[in-house]
Amino acid sequence: MLKFENVSKKYPNGYEAVKNISFEIGEGEILVLIGPSGCGKTTTMKMINRLVPHTGGKIYVGGKDISKENPVTLRKNMGYVIQQAGLFPHYTIEDNVGLIPELKKWDPEKKRSRVTEMLRLVGLAPEAFAKRYPKQLSGGQQQRVGVARALAADPEIILMDEPFGALDPITREQLQDELLRLQQNLKKTIVFVTHDMEEALKLGDKIAILKDGELVQIDTPDQILSNPANEFVEGFIGKNRIYQNPEYIPITDVMRENPSTSIAERSPAKAMTFMRQRKTDTLLVSDREGKLLGIVSAYDLSSQTTASNIGEIMHPVSFVLEDSATARDALALINEAPYGIIPVVTQNGVITGVVTRSSLLTAFASQWSNEKEELS
Ligand code: ADP
Ligand code: MG
Repeated sequence: MLKFENVSKKYPNGYEAVKNISFEIGEGEILVLIGPSGCGKTTTMKMINRLVPHTGGKIYVGGKDISKENPVTLRKNMGYVIQQAGLFPHYTIEDNVGLIPELKKWDPEKKRSRVTEMLRLVGLAPEAFAKRYPKQLSGGQQQRVGVARALAADPEIILMDEPFGALDPITREQLQDELLRLQQNLKKTIVFVTHDMEEALKLGDKIAILKDGELVQIDTPDQILSNPANEFVEGFIGKNRIYQNPEYIPITDVMRENPSTSIAERSPAKAMTFMRQRKTDTLLVSDREGKLLGIVSAYDLSSQTTASNIGEIMHPVSFVLEDSATARDALALINEAPYGIIPVVTQNGVITGVVTRSSLLTAFASQWSNEKEELS
């Protein structure tokens, strides 16, 4: 449906904003373009409807080379939604939505019924909104109008450039959900630009990651998360990994290293002193090779007076994870695990760490604070 073949864009000042990118998306797919500010997302988008002429390679829409199309006709057959909705302030909502049908010279009755239908589709009652002006609407409502306008002439492709970027998080999520709901029926080919990975993962059938005008990776969300092409992609998805996709977080990233351990031969009294020093109330018990044998708590030690070593007191550990496990495995077990801890061992059973509720929380919390930093 949409194909880029070695496409480049060099602006007249000589700056190469897009470098030799190639990709293809099928009909009815949502492609999300993502990357840091200035990486070439908007340029890539605007080359599709020829608001920006490309300077190298070929772009095909429905098999046709767009450089051979009339740019005005091309634009009328593509919906375009931008960040501040891009509504005309001196036009009513009705006239804004009817813009392309008007340009296409639809008959007035057909246009009116289409506008009504589109407003309903995006959740705006036509009776209440048709005659209003953009500034009388909230940001979220304006974006809905933007979406209605993009859909009005039933285009084959819809281009959306950070359409929800200026909305508060709740409205933003609502509009994302609605876009997905609409898409179930409409099956449009959509190119959606964002710099928010969470939005990309939620909406994209495919995600294309751009950096300095180059296409770093294009893949399904699953593939991006499980096989990031390089460190840049990894960094970009980092903050989203843990709570969205704990199955891709290695357990070694959420465990605490150097847990308090003791060999089984230690006396209960010495073990107790050691626990006080370490300010812990549980000890992992191991053999001399460091292999996990059991677990013992301060309570076990204090209520046992006859044992000569902690090996006689310890309990077997029913919940253990190997170091190849993921954060999801830990999340699934942590509430059941005795003492609220899960030892992590190598394939050979040697203790390498421990997952606790607090180590999981710390991992989550650091994700959240990263995100806050980014927002502020
Ligand atoms: P994004 O949408 O990813 O933030 P853009 O596609 O808007 O990035 O811009 C990519 C790069 O091209 C930026 O470095 C930007 O400054 C540059 N650029 C954009 N428009 C022009 C232009 N008309 N002339 C020269 N450079 C431009
Ligand atoms: Mg942009």
